[in-house]
Amino acid sequence: MTSPSARFRCFRGCAGTFPLTQAIYRCPTCDGLLEVAHDMDALRDKSGPEWRALFDARWSASARSGVWSKKEWVAPEIPDDAIVTTGEGMTPLYPARRLASELGFGELLVKQCGTTHTGSFKDLGMTVLVSVVKHAQSVGALAVRAIACASTGDTSAALAAYGAAAGLPVVVLLPRGMVSVAQLVQPLAHGAKVLALETDFDGCMAIVRELAARGLVYLANSMNPLRIEGQKTVALEIAQQLGWEVPDWVVIPSGNLGNSAALYAGFSMAKELGVVSRLPRLCVAQAANANPMYRAFVAKADEVAPVAAKPTLASAIRIGNPVSAPRAMAALRAMNGVVEEATESELADACARADRTGLYACPHTGVALACARKLRERGVITKDERVVVVSTASALKFTELKLGYHERTLPDVDAPLANAPIPVAADVEAVAKLLAG
Ligand SMILES: *Cc1c(COP(=O)(O)O)cnc(C)c1O
Ligand SMILES: [Zn+2]
Repeated sequence: MTSPSARFRCFRGCAGTFPLTQAIYRCPTCDGLLEVAHDMDALRDKSGPEWRALFDARWSASARSGVWSKKEWVAPEIPDDAIVTTGEGMTPLYPARRLASELGFGELLVKQCGTTHTGSFKDLGMTVLVSVVKHAQSVGALAVRAIACASTGDTSAALAAYGAAAGLPVVVLLPRGMVSVAQLVQPLAHGAKVLALETDFDGCMAIVRELAARGLVYLANSMNPLRIEGQKTVALEIAQQLGWEVPDWVVIPSGNLGNSAALYAGFSMAKELGVVSRLPRLCVAQAANANPMYRAFVAKADEVAPVAAKPTLASAIRIGNPVSAPRAMAALRAMNGVVEEATESELADACARADRTGLYACPHTGVALACARKLRERGVITKDERVVVVSTASALKFTELKLGYHERTLPDVDAPLANAPIPVAADVEAVAKLLAG
């Protein structure tokens, strides 16, 4: 019996593997993406039911982290004392009953990935990446001056928090003026070096890639497959929270496409190890203003061609040249997937409608909800199917947007569900009259 282990290898299948502690982000042979390959034979030492029982026991024993409760499947060789965690994962799978009945879904559940330390699913990947870096440094396998990322806001918040928790220096490259106030404040508060560049996310990404290629920084974007390993636990948690049943659909808002790839990585590993019996169908949900994958899907193209991403309220997915496009295309094929898009007013109304039923949806979750609704209306999703929408961030990071909707100041958005405050005199009669009317 060998113990579980994992190595980097080429996503396209070139020969050679590399230790997870090595600073390597592209295949040295073909320059393509890397993935983490697990020793599946070692993991087969346990049967599907045994893995389920182990994961369930850890969950009910309230393990401190959802990600590390699946450690053997994520980064098996990281010693426990190198783990940098904030108790990420184990987020609620919320049954959105009122919204489901309004929109005609048989069953609609929202995986609340935003209810976590820094308020987005990015924590799931960052705990793995920062833990591996910390371990690699302590064994002398890696010497980095700083961990760095380009970000639309949430990646930098997560990296800054985990870097600070580990005592590692962090540099973040942000497109100037394109992230919310809350997202900008997070890395500042954690002491990261915050560089605001006069470009968009894709421009920041190109620069940080070059810095990493020159060995000046360690790259924390999801081109680095360590992020995917943590994020794939969302798929495992969804199945686990449904009693190890797989939903019929998972709808996920996507920009750089790492998270779509992570869902597939999680579900396919669970299927391979006998923990679930099938894969769900995937809907990659994009903002119409930043929709390169949608265009490729409509054109039945095999590759995603870059576009210039226009401004969108869903600022975290304003990405025109998605790094993980090849991974996401593979996920789409294997999961019998579709790609859908949502306009600015569709996504804003989807948020408002969800909020009226007690959810509090960030704009990206709004994109996913709007896309799910369209698929339901067209009958692609049927009434008897169980649908999980992945909510990627806390809407508390996007107060400006909510206020703009309810004050009807958002461009391209009519805001039929706007609910603005009503000015009224400080007088009982005046207030009573308003309540009566
Ligand atoms: C990063 C992010 C996404 C998109 O994830 P990708 O892996 O880039 O596709 C969606 N929503 C939120 C809130 C994010 O922070
Ligand atoms: Zn290769």
